[in-house]
Amino acid sequence: MGQVFQHATVVSIGDELAIGQSLDTNSKWLSNQLTAMGVRVIEHVAVPDDVQAMLAALRRLANNADLIVATGGLGPTADDLSRAVLAALLGDALVRDEVAYRELEALFRKRGRELTEANAMQALRPASATCLSNPHGTAPGLRAQYRVADRAVEVFMLPGPPHENRPMFEAFVAPAIKRPVGHVIRARVIHHYGPAESEAARRLGPLLDRDRNPLVGITASDGVISLRIRYEGAEEDAERLIEATDAEVERVLASHRFAVVDDPGAEVAPPIYVALLEELKQRGATLVTAESCTGGMLAECITSISGSSSNFVGGFVTYSNELKHRVLGVERAVLEAHGAVSGETAREMAAGAVRTALHAQIPGTHETHALSITGIAGPDGGSREKPVGTVWIGRASSSDVDVEARRFVFPGDRATVRRRSAATATAMLLFHLTGREMPRMLWQVEPDGTPPMGG
Ligand code: AMP
Ligand code: MG
Repeated sequence: MGQVFQHATVVSIGDELAIGQSLDTNSKWLSNQLTAMGVRVIEHVAVPDDVQAMLAALRRLANNADLIVATGGLGPTADDLSRAVLAALLGDALVRDEVAYRELEALFRKRGRELTEANAMQALRPASATCLSNPHGTAPGLRAQYRVADRAVEVFMLPGPPHENRPMFEAFVAPAIKRPVGHVIRARVIHHYGPAESEAARRLGPLLDRDRNPLVGITASDGVISLRIRYEGAEEDAERLIEATDAEVERVLASHRFAVVDDPGAEVAPPIYVALLEELKQRGATLVTAESCTGGMLAECITSISGSSSNFVGGFVTYSNELKHRVLGVERAVLEAHGAVSGETAREMAAGAVRTALHAQIPGTHETHALSITGIAGPDGGSREKPVGTVWIGRASSSDVDVEARRFVFPGDRATVRRRSAATATAMLLFHLTGREMPRMLWQVEPDGTPPMGG
């Protein structure tokens, strides 16, 4: 069953979201689901817990959408106003839903608690709405039809906590949606490392025209340029048109490409780490990390991917000079002569990590690669020769006597410098392994001090 919806909007309700105190992750998840079902999401809104603001947003959105999915504001406290707002929108009185009330009673009995008056309010619904039972919490959801002139707008209100609204979306909203026959929205994301965003855009030229279908969008993050190919139209043409656009993108950016993702909403880790792990797997190789200024961030990004234990030996966080010496064998004289943030130290850290990891080889693998990171993340600690953002990345491997170190100056605040360091180190090894080594990478500074390329 279900109905074909043209345009959906997602409304996130909560002061904490409107003022930027917490991140509205529901919109991301819900929009991704709706898109996959062929419904075009035209807007997200985050509104505070305020009756007038909520009503105004719903009324406005109803003019352009035939489906509104709202989350939040269904709890038992004074700032939970979604029920009252929906009643006002519909011009309905609030009535007690007997089924929802009995479910609440049963839930509280099971938890050994008394059903308070505040909680009993959660069984109220606008007279023409229906309650949606919530198996993971006390707040039932609501579903109603709001009529604007001669149009009907389907309104769903779901609880805010993601572990409650996701299953409820699947149980109640998804079945109400009928996929338009033969009409699809599909996306493919192609990730690239290396070119500055403006350079990538220049090469892509008219592929970035906004009236094209498939539409090509470009985003840049920590040196990774992601091109999103989005097609909307007849299902039978989807594959062919996406492939054709993909081929055009490949023609101009092939040497930078490292990952193609057909379900971009489902990405669990930044794709550069997934791609490196994949490459290590294919080669029967392992990785060991030696980190200073990133404090283990590289190891964290790698281990956030399930299955990383087959190819990740482990990592060292050697923040102090003494530990760099004792654990990784970086010579004291090197630290004294060149400093912790130097090519020499980065090389010795990487070499030391490989040496140590050889005693801890993972069965079934036969080569080990090390990445080291040492730098000045800021905001303090910079100098004229080593400004904030200066980071040396070292790379060593068990199969190769060559130990490489590159110097970068990453723009950005402390968090950005650290993130870019981890991502760049990953790209450095990935492109080395795939034989596409870049003579100079994004933000890399030549030994003669030539400033970094823009990004
Ligand atoms: P509420 O249903 O308004 O009581 O929301 C309860 C909790 O759900 C909030 O404190 C948040 O932790 C979480 N939550 C609500 N809305 C969102 C949202 N849009 N994205 C992520 N988490 C949310
Ligand atoms: Mg709330």
